[in-house]
Amino acid sequence: MIKRIITLLILTVIICSGCGKKDEVPANDLNTIITRGELIVGVKTDAYPFGFYDKKGHISGYDVSLARLIARGILGNDKKVRFVPVTSSERMMKLYSGEVDMIIATMSVTPKRQEILDFSNSYYTAGQALLVKKGSDITSLKDLNGKRAIIVFGSTSEKSLRSAVSNVGIRGYKTYPAAYKALKEGKADAIVGDDTILMGFSLQDNDVVLLPKRYSREPYAVALRKGRESRDLIKAINTVINVETRNGHLKQIQESFGIK
Ligand code: GLU
Repeated sequence: MIKRIITLLILTVIICSGCGKKDEVPANDLNTIITRGELIVGVKTDAYPFGFYDKKGHISGYDVSLARLIARGILGNDKKVRFVPVTSSERMMKLYSGEVDMIIATMSVTPKRQEILDFSNSYYTAGQALLVKKGSDITSLKDLNGKRAIIVFGSTSEKSLRSAVSNVGIRGYKTYPAAYKALKEGKADAIVGDDTILMGFSLQDNDVVLLPKRYSREPYAVALRKGRESRDLIKAINTVINVETRNGHLKQIQESFGIK
């Protein structure tokens, strides 16, 4: 996966330098954003309560609120932010193609990802868990041996499931609602994913259960294109995260979305 992404990045650089329109991929720096007067952020729309469409059709969620706080910190106005929907599998591509300045999309910091992305401080920690149908005989990851499990493409659970359970049939989906639908339709025995995202389904549906065990630590952070020029931007983002953590505002936002 990582090799594929690196190849893609190299191709992107080659294409951009070949067409002579290098400045189409915006620089990572703070000044570019300040001059533009707008922050462009990749967020989820399939990961309630971090990024989703609310009843009025507006993008909402904890990640979305954090993006607004960053816009306020950098541009003095929390409305100066444009949201671009991203999925787990396409988020890095949208970042590297220059479509967005940053990703705030339930994205965990991992050593592999750190090789190709710059990350802010972490603003939340999730953990991988299993979502099963009520009455299922699956009680832990190892019960998935010889069974089928669902993952979302591009998520950390895609990789961890393959290494944790040798004999599991894996079904991949592009979005979390599609994964949930597949579980409900009996296409597999469990979804492996972040507890907070899976909890969104178990809260709305008594026929599915989020199992209590956690299998990983998933520190969520803001992701940027890797490069020296992202330093000032990361500093500005970290200042917002640190201030809003200390003053209890981030905690308050989490609680307003039912996140613990
Ligand atoms: N936090 C995990 C990840 O970054 C899973 C959530 C997601 O698919 O975004 O891959």
